[in-house]
Amino acid sequence: MLIDVHAHLDQYTENLDTVLGEIKQHQIITVSNSVDLDSYKRNCDIASRSKLVIPVFGVHPINASKVAGNLEQLDQALEASPFLGEIGLDFSFVADAAQEIEQKVVFEYLLESASALDKYVIVHSKHTEADVLKLIEEHGVQKVIMHWFTGSGEVFQKLVARGAFFTVGADIMRSAETRQMAKEIPTDQLLTETDNPLVSLNLPDVLAMPRVLNDVITELALLRNTTEEDIVQTVERNFMAILQSTPSLATFSKKIARDFKNRRGSRFG
Ligand SMILES: [Zn+2]
Repeated sequence: MLIDVHAHLDQYTENLDTVLGEIKQHQIITVSNSVDLDSYKRNCDIASRSKLVIPVFGVHPINASKVAGNLEQLDQALEASPFLGEIGLDFSFVADAAQEIEQKVVFEYLLESASALDKYVIVHSKHTEADVLKLIEEHGVQKVIMHWFTGSGEVFQKLVARGAFFTVGADIMRSAETRQMAKEIPTDQLLTETDNPLVSLNLPDVLAMPRVLNDVITELALLRNTTEEDIVQTVERNFMAILQSTPSLATFSKKIARDFKNRRGSRFG
């Protein structure tokens, strides 16, 4: 099976049936990240239509100002969600310093919740990698998945040493930095993502459909000098480790473990 740890299925304005059809056809376990409470609700609705979709709650930094004044309104969703994503910092679009402070207040609240609830976080850190690392350290968050990481080698190495996972997406077909990092991620910390459908904004000629994950895997196999099958199995194993330390997904995890085994059996048997 394929694993997409970072998509935004709620943000498809059309074609959702086709998207869910592809997820089924290619057997892609899809973690559908949210950007606010409404987005989480839509992701939960979508997940009721596919056994392969895991909806998770987070507040994207772009929405921090909307919730900074009343953080308790997030508590119910934080409790319910198996991981917290998408969360993080991104100052590239803020108008003033007050919004940076609001982002930090919200991010720290989410990190504190993750720590208290012992949940994985899926982290956006565009151009804020050092700040993000500092806050992760300060809040003692151990379960970290870095989404589309593009930071310095120094921050990368510190995150690797802390055991963070890294999701590699379609950017691997464009960016020299991402290609280099894709070679350096330790095998047991490698994951895959699409960031669909938003990735099309950044990579206009990459079709923002679930099957793009196949191209990511092909490229990862080439760069890491191994086979696609090896990449698929590595990512399955890593994602299974995450599921197994996420009690609320225990039933899902048992079912998926069976599916992994069956599919492998049928492919090589
Ligand atoms: Zn995203």
